Amino acid sequence: VDHQLTYPVRPSDKVWSDLEGYPKLFEPGKKVVEFVDVGCGYGGLLTTLSPLFPSKLILGMEIRPLVEQYVAQRIQALRAQNSDKKPDEPDSFQNISVMRMNAMKFLPNFFEKAQLEKLFFLFPDPHFKKKKHKARIITPQLVAEYAYILKPGGVVYTVTDVKELHEWMVKHLDAHPLFERLTQQEMDADPCVDPVMNGTEEAKKVDRNGGTKFIMCYRRLEKSRIV
Ligand code: SAM
Repeated sequence: VDHQLTYPVRPSDKVWSDLEGYPKLFEPGKKVVEFVDVGCGYGGLLTTLSPLFPSKLILGMEIRPLVEQYVAQRIQALRAQNSDKKPDEPDSFQNISVMRMNAMKFLPNFFEKAQLEKLFFLFPDPHFKKKKHKARIITPQLVAEYAYILKPGGVVYTVTDVKELHEWMVKHLDAHPLFERLTQQEMDADPCVDPVMNGTEEAKKVDRNGGTKFIMCYRRLEKSRIV
């Protein structure tokens, strides 16, 4: 799919203020994308988080062209329905956007070092077969990239209904010296936990089917745990 995708040479080359981006909110060097939903699917997390964090620019990345198009139209419709709101007011939906993108490639071309505050991996594709494990969105190499683009104190959220994938993600994030698990109390106090557990289309599907959801969240540390 991705031979048709284009990548900026460096993050500053990417135009975020265009119509598909944040035409009313983006300010170069001042207001940049800070939350990224990797494999956003139909955009349920974006629309749930939008009014909760009206001053944050939130981006969904999605590889399937038709799904990305659907989300883009959904956002345009929400913006149009709420055009009476000020751009930085909750429910203006000016702070969410979607990009078609293979998130496994060139992430550091889109985001500066330490730019992001939150990275979401919600119900990623499980790739069950052992030969396909390298296609998983959490791998040692990619975890290092996530550490690079997250700011110290930033948080990675992982949720899945596949126990084996949960164990895989936890294993690889536990192994990285720049990540530390959030405690249960920290997760209980985190306003993103309910949206990630319940706000996406996949989360709702799992609920309908009576499945179990596994969550683990990690803080990006300032300094390596291992000295
Ligand atoms: N997070 C959404 C949710 O919870 O409803 C969607 C979950 S769905 C099972 C996984 C999504 O990740 C699909 O929409 C798929 O197209 C997308 N995806 C898979 N690999 C990707 C990649 N390398 N880059 C961007 N998106 C990807």
